[in-house]
Amino acid sequence: MAIVGVSKRQPAAVVQAAIDAGLREIGENYLQEAREKLPAIVGARRHFIGHLQTNKAKAVVELFDVVQSVDRREAGVALSRAAVAAGKELEVLVQLNISPTERFGCDPAEAGRLAEALRGLPNLRVGGVMALGPISDDRSVVERAFARAAAVLPQVGGTTLSLGMSADWRIALRAGSTMIRIGTAIFGPREAP
Ligand SMILES: *Cc1c(COP(=O)(O)O)cnc(C)c1O
Repeated sequence: MAIVGVSKRQPAAVVQAAIDAGLREIGENYLQEAREKLPAIVGARRHFIGHLQTNKAKAVVELFDVVQSVDRREAGVALSRAAVAAGKELEVLVQLNISPTERFGCDPAEAGRLAEALRGLPNLRVGGVMALGPISDDRSVVERAFARAAAVLPQVGGTTLSLGMSADWRIALRAGSTMIRIGTAIFGPREAP
């Protein structure tokens, strides 16, 4: 099981201290913030977990090792093109939409087809799936959504099931998550945007 420390709106020094204490993976949502912050941070694998705009693919490929938020073929095409130009192999996860409160992510029923298309693109490696759980006080709602995401992994391929954040990582692990993305429970409250 891997822990991605979600370091958005946390100062670089705090993130570096967590890496020095043993954190091996970090996740960022906002490209502009990552551009300013990541050059000062060393020693962790970098995951882009925010919404991907295709015109920002080049900068994302330069800054990150993994993109967890690929939810459409055009995003994969742009990343592949940028990865080829950079001479870099990029790991990607298919982001699923399993929550009515979430805007982004691909319909789980379409995920196998999307993964197939991504596998045909050079310099991309499909590592698995990512999803945000629904925001709900009803535990069974969250459990059902995570189970739905877990069921899609064999159709997508890869071994990474990136499910679970500070509020729901326990439920996610029980659903088979192999990678939890933890922000506030590691770093505390975020700075105001
Ligand atoms: C912000 C964020 C997280 C971490 O959220 P916390 O509730 O602070 O743990 C995880 N995944 C994604 C995609 C996020 O945007």
